[in-house]
Amino acid sequence: MLSMRDLTRVYRTDTVETTALDGINLEIEDGEFVAVMGPSGCGKSTLLNVIGMLDSPSSGSYVFNGEEVAGLPEAKLADVRKKNLGFIFQSFNLVDELSVRENVELALLYHDVPASERKRRADEVMDKVGIGHRAKHRPSQLSGGQQQRVAVARALIAEPKLILADEPTGNLDTHHGEEVMKMLQALNAEGSTIVMVTHSPGHADYAGRVVNMLDGRVLQERRRAA
Ligand code: ADP
Repeated sequence: MLSMRDLTRVYRTDTVETTALDGINLEIEDGEFVAVMGPSGCGKSTLLNVIGMLDSPSSGSYVFNGEEVAGLPEAKLADVRKKNLGFIFQSFNLVDELSVRENVELALLYHDVPASERKRRADEVMDKVGIGHRAKHRPSQLSGGQQQRVAVARALIAEPKLILADEPTGNLDTHHGEEVMKMLQALNAEGSTIVMVTHSPGHADYAGRVVNMLDGRVLQERRRAA
């Protein structure tokens, strides 16, 4: 799926230079569920943003799906992103003026998919995450756990090769957090490749591999015993 070699990301302001990623070497295979952990400020979000092509590395190589994407212009990155990636954020990022169904379909708006097909796919992914019966509700009428399910459905509708989740349970109570984790695990079992940033060791245990970061580097990797 992806491979990073000696990848760095350095933020420069007038006075300070911060090395957020300091020589990352990382391979992620198709079908993996990887959790990224580490203390605040260690570079987890930066790594996820670079993987998600929302940010570009300062140096090094990033091969996604067989293609070197480090240094590609933004328009090209946007294209790769649209075709391949689904995002789930801590703060759901739903549009409250739209219904659940419209929120989910929104992700296909720039995909040249006919309306009937959009509807069919929305029904399919809403059922998959168990919110089909809430299709006409507004996001604010749902619990946090249900809202995150909508966000997961929105991430799935374009059938991405890779799902990126930045602390998907960060705004949820224990019960709803576990529910969302079980759902991600089920999606992975069906073949979705997932990279998730989390602070919770318990939630990291749902993943097949845990990547621990410190000071912009991969400190240690651990695979769950089969
Ligand atoms: P984490 O997600 O592990 O908390 P981040 O990836 O957000 O860590 O940040 C890594 C380091 O990069 C931190 O020192 C942070 O202050 C710095 N950083 C992140 N984003 C920016 C930015 N846009 N400009 C300058 N420094 C940044």
